[in-house]
Amino acid sequence: LFAAPTDFLKGVVAMDGLPPGDRVEVCFAGRSNVGKSSLINALTGRKGLARASNTPGRTQEINFFTTTGGPYLVDLPGYGFANAPVKVVEKWQRLLKAYLSGRATLRRAFVLIDSRHGVKAVDEEIMALLDKSAVTFQAVLTKSDKVKENDRAKVLAQVRGALSKHPAAFPELVVTSSEKGWGIDTLRAIIATLE
Ligand code: GDP
Repeated sequence: LFAAPTDFLKGVVAMDGLPPGDRVEVCFAGRSNVGKSSLINALTGRKGLARASNTPGRTQEINFFTTTGGPYLVDLPGYGFANAPVKVVEKWQRLLKAYLSGRATLRRAFVLIDSRHGVKAVDEEIMALLDKSAVTFQAVLTKSDKVKENDRAKVLAQVRGALSKHPAAFPELVVTSSEKGWGIDTLRAIIATLE
């Protein structure tokens, strides 16, 4: 999986722009700076690939990456962005809701949580939306190299507590560091089982 080239396919701004649902897909959500681009790059082994999602204008799009013979990797950049105009935020939220509730080939959402910070209010919002949309989601802790063993245990407990309140949450979480390569194979293997 992902050994073959992964490419940025397109940024989608409306439901009719979605690529054909001809393969399974997984999506990634997380607050800005959580380490999402780094994680997608680590998963695909392509540095700089997911930077496409962080460029201005792309942050309110649903960004599709293709993997040869594998699933679509879908980056959902635009949640928790604070300074955007209300109309832009509303448009994004409508698109996000339509996508999450209407995409038959979406197998799982990965909600990225910073290992230093645990689950925040914006993370709760996306988790509630995933519950409502009946999309199974799995928490992925990022930047785990940045926390000490003790603190990691505390954050894990906090995240587990938060997940237990969400019916759509998959109980097992994945601890990663894109920097060190920790948990990346595990996450790849999980994605491979969803096909
Ligand atoms: P995004 O906004 O969620 O796409 O976040 P980025 O992937 O751009 O990462 C934000 C910052 O965190 C960058 O400075 C990264 O170098 C850093 N970062 C991302 N992942 C890791 C990690 O696993 N370990 C460490 N130490 N830093 C990371």
